[in-house]
Order: sequence, then C-alpha cells, then structure tokens
Amino acid sequence: MESNLISTHGEELLQWMDQYLKGIRDLPVVPKVQPGEILSQLPPSPPDQAESFQTVFRDFESIILPGMTHWQHPSFFGYFSGNNSEPSILAEMLTATMGAQCMIWLTSPAAEELETRMMEWLRELIGLPTSFTGVIQDTASSATLCALLTAREKATGYAINERGYAGMPLFTVYCSEQAHSSVDKAVRIAGIGSQNLRKIPVDEEFALIPEALEKAILADKESGLHPLFIVGAMGTTGTTAMDPLRAIGEIAQKHRLWFHIDAAYAGTALLLPECRYLAEGVALADSFVFNPHKWMFTNFDCSAYYVKDTQALRQTFSITPEYLRTREDERVNNYRDWGIQLGRRFRALKLWFVIRMFGADGLRDKIRLHNQLAAALAEDIDLHVDFERVAPVPINTVCFRLKPLGITEEATLNALNEKLLQALNATGKLFITHTVLQGRYILRMVIGQTEVQKEDVTAAWNLIQKTSQQLLTSN
Ligand SMILES: *Cc1c(COP(=O)(O)O)cnc(C)c1O
Repeated sequence: MESNLISTHGEELLQWMDQYLKGIRDLPVVPKVQPGEILSQLPPSPPDQAESFQTVFRDFESIILPGMTHWQHPSFFGYFSGNNSEPSILAEMLTATMGAQCMIWLTSPAAEELETRMMEWLRELIGLPTSFTGVIQDTASSATLCALLTAREKATGYAINERGYAGMPLFTVYCSEQAHSSVDKAVRIAGIGSQNLRKIPVDEEFALIPEALEKAILADKESGLHPLFIVGAMGTTGTTAMDPLRAIGEIAQKHRLWFHIDAAYAGTALLLPECRYLAEGVALADSFVFNPHKWMFTNFDCSAYYVKDTQALRQTFSITPEYLRTREDERVNNYRDWGIQLGRRFRALKLWFVIRMFGADGLRDKIRLHNQLAAALAEDIDLHVDFERVAPVPINTVCFRLKPLGITEEATLNALNEKLLQALNATGKLFITHTVLQGRYILRMVIGQTEVQKEDVTAAWNLIQKTSQQLLTSN
C-alpha cells in the first residue's frame, strides 16, 4: 500500500468535502439509477494487488457518488432528516482516526467521562428532570428494546434473564396505532410476541386516546394477562403527532406499567422553550429516547437514551467476564453494561463539538427557523383551494395532499397523489416521501436540513403547485 496517505491526500480530500457541501444544491437529491446498476460496475472479486488512492477515489466519484441519495441536500424533505454539520464531521474524523473502542472506562477513560457529561448537557438542553440519567445508544430502536427488556426484568425480579419464560404470565405491551415499527420489533425480539402488542386507537389528530388505553389494560388484566410496558410517542413518524404524555403517565403509574417515551425525532424541539409544552408529563416516564442524529446536526449514529432506574438497566444487561473486570468498576460507568453492544464507538465527541461550536443559542436558532418555515408552508397549503393539510404541525413536518375541487373519490385522490410524488421526486430538485393515514395517501414534507433556507421551501412549494397543475391538465 502507498504510505503517507493522510499527508499526501488529506488536504485534497478536505477540499472535496468542502466543495461537496457547498455545491450540494446542484446535485439531484435522489439519483436516477436502476436496481443493480451500481453493483454491475463493481468487480465480483477483490483485488490482489494494492490500488492507489487516486484509482479508488476516481471510482468513488464515478460509480458511487452518482448512486447516492444526498441526505444533506437542503431540499431533502423525506422521511425524517438525518442531518449533520461541519463540527460533527470534523469530530467524526477524529473519532475515526483514534479508532477507540469505548466499552468500559478503562478502554478510553475520556470517552466514558465525556459521554457522561454530554448526557448531562443534553438533559439540561431539553429540560429533562435530573432524575433521568443518559447513555448514548446506536439508535432509538435499540433504546426502546433496552427499555422493554429492563421493564421485563425489573417486573420479574430478573428471572427471565435467568430461566426464560417458563411459568411466566403473558405480558402485554401498549402503543398507539401510529407508533414506530421499532416498538413492534422490540416486542418480537424481547419474546413478548406480536399478538400481545395492543395498538391503541388515535384521535383525529393521530394522538393516542388515553381512555382506550386504560380500557385495554383493564381488559387484559381481567383476562389474567400482565400489562407491562407502554410507549408514548412525542412526535410520531407519520405526522409528528403528540401523544398525551401526562395522561398516559398517570395510567402507567396507576397500573404499574413501565412508561417509555419515544421522542426519536421531535425530542430536538425541546431545546426551544416554546416547545417544552410538548413534553408535559415527561417526569412521569421511566425512560425517554431522542436522536441527535436526526435533527440536531450530529452525524448518525447518536441516540440519547434516558432512564430513571439505572440500577435496573445495568442489572438487565451486565455480564462481566473475567477479562473485562477492572479495579475501577465500582467508581466508573462501564457503558457496555447499559445496553446491547459490547464494542461502542466514541459518539460523545461529535456532540461535544456540535454543542460547543453552535452554542445552545445557535442550535435553537436553526431549530426555530425550521419550525417557522414549516408553519409558513402549512399556511400556504391551507390557503390553496387544491390542497388539503391533513395533520397539525406542532414542529417542522407538514402532511398534506392534493385534493382539487370536484375530485372526491378516495381511490382517485390516492392515485393522483402517488403520481404527484413520483413526478416531483423524478425532477431531482427535491425529495419528499409519503405515508398512508386512514386509507389516504399523504405527502410529508420535513423541513429539518442543516442548511435549509426559506428559498428552498418556497422553491419546493412552487414546484409542487406547478407539477400538480400539469398533472391535472394532462388528465
Ligand atoms: C426514526 C424513529 C425511530 C427509529 O429511530 P432509529 O434511531 O433509526 O432506530 C423510532 N421512533 C420514531 C418516532 C422515529 O421517528
């Protein structure tokens, strides 16, 4: 292999990174490639001889880049954003350079202690009570699984970890019809069984109906089942619906269920004092998760998991083989005991860079702008006779559909909106995704990109109107 790769090519690479981000508006947000098109350009077997950086990089530019979806494009309005920022990118370069495994204190004392402090900073930034203690997980999916397993073990005196489910009651889990699929997955992995997951109906704003929750819990109790765990969503994936957390928390306490809050996306909004009302009742929760890797300018992966009973969390996950025992175990946090993975990336470093280099005010300014842009778009949609907004916009996600006067047939509207989505995304000028709500095909626009500006949203809205007109006149 060539030597001195970093000193020879590092500067060139940094230039490339800078140009990529500066010129990203000129790239199509989603590539025009067919399935298998990239694969067919990759040799079926690895090279025997070392190849130069130049060669590999040329292929990166000619084969890989044209097949990338540009998630950092300001007109990426799909799914939920997974935004990054320059402080985060630079920190990730340092993390990669040091290549440390951060499983226990001894394997990198600074990583462990920085993680502890960053979780305290984040807790303060989003206004969580100090009764919560944080740890960084890879994803919200893992955090929710950790919460469920901890709830299961705590409720059974840690017996299922030891003996399995033999002789145990049947446990039930609750979430709304709009909850994220990671809840379904956790229920399967934890051995609860999908049949024992109760999807509670939602109101017209897609928020869980607490009376229906309590009814379901009582019915399960009556049938001799053991209600165990309830997930409340602070911002569902479909529409950022806000479940009534206080009401859910009170029901959870009354019936002794573990209450987990999934704020994977919307948690970032809690940096804004004006959004704190969305978390009303959070103090009643046993655990809470939000993803700085979605909307807080921090590269994937970085999921902040907060839990009150850290003793129960550790007792659920701690297995200490002899070779990992250290003299400091009593005095430090060994984060491998706080979740599923043993090996852990140094993820606190990018948070440290992001929080310090934006400052709390800088973070708030961007998040607030996103919410304002979404509110303005919602207003434009409400004023347009051919469009219908279908859900409240508490933060930065707008759900709507094309619904011209005179077309009332739902199937026709669904087909029309699906066509509109395809036509819009085919332009390469923006990317939006859809959801289905009560049988209706809905477009979602998430305004959460690090560099998104008013002009980008205006251009998107103009393109949506123009493309809709073309569709309607060609019909
Ligand atoms: C994105 C999302 C998740 C899953 O997040 P991962 O970190 O990708 O596992 C869970 N819940 C909600 C509400 C989400 O929006």
